[in-house]
Amino acid sequence: MDIHEYQAKDILKSFGVAVPDGALAYSPEQAAYRARELGGDRWVVKAQVHAGGRGKAGGVKLCSSDHEILDVTSDMFGMKLVTHQTGPAGKGVYRVYVEAATAFEREIYLGFVLDRTTQRVMIVASGEGGMEIEDISATRPDSIVRSTVEPAVGLRDFQAREIAFALGIPAALTQQMVRTLQGCYRAFTELDATMVEINPLVITSDSRIMALDAKMTFDGNAMFRHPQIAELRDKSQEDPRESRAADRGLSYIGLTGNIGCIVNGAGLAMATMDTIKLAGGEPANFLDIGGGATPERVAKAFKLVTSDKNVQAVLVNIFAGINRCDWVAEGVVQALRAEPVDVPVVVRLAGTNVEEGLKILAKSGLPIIRATTLMEAAQRAVTAWKNDMAQNTKVRAVK
Ligand code: GDP
Ligand code: MN
Repeated sequence: MDIHEYQAKDILKSFGVAVPDGALAYSPEQAAYRARELGGDRWVVKAQVHAGGRGKAGGVKLCSSDHEILDVTSDMFGMKLVTHQTGPAGKGVYRVYVEAATAFEREIYLGFVLDRTTQRVMIVASGEGGMEIEDISATRPDSIVRSTVEPAVGLRDFQAREIAFALGIPAALTQQMVRTLQGCYRAFTELDATMVEINPLVITSDSRIMALDAKMTFDGNAMFRHPQIAELRDKSQEDPRESRAADRGLSYIGLTGNIGCIVNGAGLAMATMDTIKLAGGEPANFLDIGGGATPERVAKAFKLVTSDKNVQAVLVNIFAGINRCDWVAEGVVQALRAEPVDVPVVVRLAGTNVEEGLKILAKSGLPIIRATTLMEAAQRAVTAWKNDMAQNTKVRAVK
């Protein structure tokens, strides 16, 4: 689960990380008012969206007057900010953060991630802040400092000092850097984060270490024990298809193709998407119904996939171990009876109760295309989709 920059800064501040003074606004007038409240004569106005790369996309602006803030935020509010992290649809700007501008000497990159290989929290840092970490690792890989934290003892001060030295932080600021690293590490572990990223962390002109940007991601499965974090969820920043699925307990990722997939297990979902591509199609989504799916759950998943108007064919691919093919078949039939769809549906079943499942499909009398192997299923889905498209085009042409 992602949160906004201003929320991440608020959290990190409570863990001892220095951040600029700032205030949130929901309208241009409020943004100007907030700036007057903060005082000073230079402010940074920042669009709050769940994505990085805002600076280059026009979502971060330096302003020196009320008038300028009104002007800049009038454009920001309601816009769909498209950055290299949002995808082409962009993310809506409904909140703007106003901060006292900070003059700085140096920008540093600081990230805390879960390293799955070592199963440890890994600190990644670079003296080349301001750039995205992908660009740093492409252009200045030698500048990257990596340090793994031993969970039994946590981040020790000597380890934090080593990182500070490796980054060339002036000796007078070592203690502030240690405090910043410790604060981030504690926030990461105590709140079940999966990522803390500060880019840039700066050395200000008056020699302080300060986080000018902050990004935190949390483990969704741990949110039940952090209600104060869980309530920071902002559905306006999520793909509506994905929030609807999450609310129904389904694991769903929206994609840009047009073949809807209903699959059990993430590995099988990956294989299914690959096979669809191999057969010349593009998956519209990734939907994992999980193990032990009841007919009702399958029907819900089916409804969710077909409610996406980009979906022009559906492929149900089930390899049932814990699942039961007859229940899946029942779910598909229930869904199609309740709400007929005007796109071709291909079903491939294998495993537990496959004969019963196939019987249910055959007996239903519904125009369900069946397939035995995954390759066959993918090819049939792609062919059915192409034929369907051709027919629809003809109908339209005749009209
Ligand atoms: P991002 O593009 O989404 O990562 O947004 P950031 O918050 O990192 O802002 C983009 C860039 O704006 C930063 O890399 C800084 O160089 C610059 N910036 C942000 N805040 C300030 C500030 O207070 N003063 C100055 N001079 N530059 C800032
Ligand atoms: Mn940034």
